[in-house]
Amino acid sequence: MARGVLAMVWSKNRQRPYEQRKGRADVLSRAAGQCQIKGPGCTRLATIDDHVVPLSLGGSLGLHNRQAACKTCHDLKTARDARSAKTAIQAKAKPPARKHPGLK
Ligand SMILES: [Zn+2]
Repeated sequence: MARGVLAMVWSKNRQRPYEQRKGRADVLSRAAGQCQIKGPGCTRLATIDDHVVPLSLGGSLGLHNRQAACKTCHDLKTARDARSAKTAIQAKAKPPARKHPGLK
């Protein structure tokens, strides 16, 4: 029994949470296996369950926020999302409230 619990904890730490994996088949079948992004270099064959608004930018786990994507489109979108997240973090950064004491 205890070993089963440990194995469960270990596997949860090694995989995405169940809520994130749930519905992947639904997302891919809803799009009939076709990529829904259709960006440059698209292979049309969807293999990835993509979050339209990334979780890191406040997107939800719900099916309405998910789309089928091919690897090429997903990789391009992920890179674009990472740039957006970096820009958002930089925009939140505030300048120092007062001058550094060493500056005149
Ligand atoms: Zn694609």
